[in-house]
Amino acid sequence: MKVIRAGVLGFCMGVRRAVELACAEAEKSGRVFTLGPLVHNPRVLETLKSRGVEIIDENRLPRNINGESFIIRAHGISPQAEAELRGRGGRIIDATCPKVKACQLKAKALAAAGYRLFLAGEAGHAEIIGVRGYAASGGGARTFCVVVGNAAEAEKAAAGLSTAGPFPAETGAKPALIGQTTISEEEYRAIGEGIKKYFSGLEIIETICAATRERQDALRELLDKVDAVIIAGGKESANTRRLLTIAQEHGKPCALSESAADIPPGFAAFQTVGICAGASTPDTVIDEIERALTAGPFGP
Ligand code: SF4
Repeated sequence: MKVIRAGVLGFCMGVRRAVELACAEAEKSGRVFTLGPLVHNPRVLETLKSRGVEIIDENRLPRNINGESFIIRAHGISPQAEAELRGRGGRIIDATCPKVKACQLKAKALAAAGYRLFLAGEAGHAEIIGVRGYAASGGGARTFCVVVGNAAEAEKAAAGLSTAGPFPAETGAKPALIGQTTISEEEYRAIGEGIKKYFSGLEIIETICAATRERQDALRELLDKVDAVIIAGGKESANTRRLLTIAQEHGKPCALSESAADIPPGFAAFQTVGICAGASTPDTVIDEIERALTAGPFGP
């Protein structure tokens, strides 16, 4: 069997950096906490745990964290949450992805300059919570920062801002839109258009990270060259599942595999099989799947 890898696959820069920082700190200190999982991949999390990297819920911190090390994930956290950890004696290793850090600092600067901020993304997502915290740290009590998940929500929030509340349009509100780094380009554009119905001068900040799109484009290219494709990655990873959907929509036989054991036995019949992988899939899993496809064994 011939195996072809997608041109872009696996760990994105931000996740790779966070995992490396966590491993280095665990080796140095013996133990390090991450505020939530570093990646949505069970095998990576198992490996990290065996090296002393423990997941902890930031809302359920132990009473005494003095001297403990905490990795800030690639998603980042709010400056308020970080200050609390430091205030209680925690040691911080900041693995916030540089692209997320840029969004945080932009939100802070815009809020400080009096902008009314629309954040496009999931209200409960760690990245959005962090960016919102940065906006609050820049704008203080007068910060207007609303999270919108889709175009309809954006339009409703813009209508409210233009007619009511403490910042009516006639006072010269300067609105800006910042997006979650992983939001789709179509969704972001639709949200911007919804706000522009009320604020034609909306400033749209380019915050979308290309990592997700690059993996999707690479998969589309790969699908034209192979008989079937394996999407390597965790079932809990949204961007990995999205890759599976793209392959399914294309109509080629495909399967999501967390390990070689998940490769369907029927794949042995194909002459050319492609491998693609989400941004949370480590090289070790991709290598294992490639080896199994080439030389076997695979399947349950
Ligand atoms: S997807 Fe992009 S923004 Fe998110 S961690 Fe990876 S490189 Fe950073």
